[in-house]
Amino acid sequence: MNRAEELAKRLADVKARMAAACARAGRAPDSVRLVAVSKFHPASDIAALAAAGQREFGESYAQEALAKQDALVDQDILWHFIGGLQTKKARQVAGRFALIHSLDSEKLARELAKRACEARILQPVLIEVNMGEEQKAGVEESDLISLAELAVSLKKQGAGLDLRGLMCLPPVFDEPEEARPVFAYLGELRDDLSARLGIPLPELSMGMTGDFEAAIEEGATIVRIGTSIFGPRPAH
Ligand SMILES: *Cc1c(COP(=O)(O)O)cnc(C)c1O
Repeated sequence: MNRAEELAKRLADVKARMAAACARAGRAPDSVRLVAVSKFHPASDIAALAAAGQREFGESYAQEALAKQDALVDQDILWHFIGGLQTKKARQVAGRFALIHSLDSEKLARELAKRACEARILQPVLIEVNMGEEQKAGVEESDLISLAELAVSLKKQGAGLDLRGLMCLPPVFDEPEEARPVFAYLGELRDDLSARLGIPLPELSMGMTGDFEAAIEEGATIVRIGTSIFGPRPAH
């Protein structure tokens, strides 16, 4: 098998596992989107997967992501930004990603909104919630409501931020089943927040290679999968 065939096969395997998890949970197979996490993998791999029908890709580093976007400008790809985002990089990423999963501070919200307003666009975002003490990324649960209220207030005349839901990166467990309560809890936080703000928050971005089936069973609408599709990430 060449690399393109290998990637197509791994993609098909992941999609079959996603469909089986949807079936177990009584969910429609198209209720979960797959973001193929391509960080550290070459643009040629992304092109091969796009040819195999994969449309959404996730990147964690602004510089690497923008270089790949430029290299693949001819492809019909929806890009997701899933990594930690420094405020000073907000200008570069605003408007270049279909969804930014990692809004985690008021400073970043203001900067992203400012750039989106300048460009007269609505930038879809998720708030990343910190779900474990050893986790550095994400907003603390106690600050979630105020950050969400700020994000919503930063939408003016059809430009600014469009808050779509929540994202989490659970602590690394030995068993995927251990992540299940974390996923269920993110869903509760989303439901509470949606009721409190009085707006729909349809997206729950949760589940990676080690735990995406449990995440789907607990309500994920977006899973972010790298290793199961690409194999191990090259050294960087
Ligand atoms: C790298 C990364 C992933 C993909 O992880 P795998 O275990 O390789 O599937 C998902 N989400 C985030 C935020 C990541 O940084």
